Amino acid sequence: MTLTKESRVTLNDGNKMPILGLGTFASHEVPKDLAEDAVKVAIDLGYRHIDCALITGNEMQIGHGIRSKIADGTVKREDIFYTGKLWCTFFSPDMVRKGLERSLRDVGLDYLDLFLMHWPFSIKPTGAADPSEKDKPFIYDNVDFCATWEVLEACKDAGLVRSLGVSNFNRRQLERLLNKPGLKYKPVCNQVEFHLYLNQHRLLSYCKSKDIYLVAYSVLGSHRDGNWVDPSLPVLLDDPILNKVAAKYNRSPAEVAIRFILQKGAVVLAKSFTPARIKQNLGVFEFELRPEDIKTLDSLDRNLHYGPFKEMKQHPEYPFHDEY
Ligand code: NDP
Repeated sequence: MTLTKESRVTLNDGNKMPILGLGTFASHEVPKDLAEDAVKVAIDLGYRHIDCALITGNEMQIGHGIRSKIADGTVKREDIFYTGKLWCTFFSPDMVRKGLERSLRDVGLDYLDLFLMHWPFSIKPTGAADPSEKDKPFIYDNVDFCATWEVLEACKDAGLVRSLGVSNFNRRQLERLLNKPGLKYKPVCNQVEFHLYLNQHRLLSYCKSKDIYLVAYSVLGSHRDGNWVDPSLPVLLDDPILNKVAAKYNRSPAEVAIRFILQKGAVVLAKSFTPARIKQNLGVFEFELRPEDIKTLDSLDRNLHYGPFKEMKQHPEYPFHDEY
């Protein structure tokens, strides 16, 4: 399987997505400027896919980074694939376009390449769309994501976004969307937690059968920000079997963790704000895992969610009660 940093997959709407993207979530204590610096370093190194979200709270800095690399001639706008996400407080049909326009304004682009419904559930807009108010209790809402999707389709027709997708949807929710009467655009992807400890083989094969890409997040075992991740969970990159395989290839555990997901046929997001690691993670294009090592790594699956968003467990649309 010859994969390079230029490799792109063709989505079901004909647009192309680079197979490795830079993740940008960082806890609120991390200075925002680091996000901008990371984007610039990444673009200089050859990353062309940047994943962000309104709730991440740094779209302005990310946008600055992208626009400065366009301004200095390193890239053109069309070289960059930028993903934004509609936060769950923007699901009511009168709010959807506002949510997208806020991302467009903050990131300073004329269009987004991809816009995702961040989760399948809606939350009442209490101000919690503002990351600084993230700790406020969530108030459940019951907007049907199919109604949200129709407005997103209109936003695509209006040229505000090139491709539409979802995130954190289970199979049943995907099916509901795909069977929605009058569906105009299928989601091009489902962005989900997917790593060695959460080997999404059933969701992956379902999505492949529907020509929907899985985009994998927390491939490196996540950021371990205590607000989102239980610190008692095992550290993925310390896994002894992963480390043994990595040593065999003379690669870092991070490279093997990313390469494993790429070889499953998913698109991978890897977050780093550390220049040496941003660079190291591109090493995934310099080796290939052999089938026997893939098999060994498959055995690490333990259905572990680093980011289960458990505050939403009682919501009727909580996706993780289903097996997949
Ligand atoms: P990742 O699994 O990508 O892990 C990020 C952590 O790994 C950071 O602490 C980073 O540190 C560290 N790291 C990066 N490269 C290396 C390396 N080579 N060696 C050792 N450590 C390394 O976590 P995320 O959960 O952030 O997922 C990636 C992205 O996916 C997010 O940033 C976001 O864009 C997206 N996402 C989407 C979600 C959704 O609901 N749709 C939910 C969660 C994430 P450092 O930065 O200090 O280098």
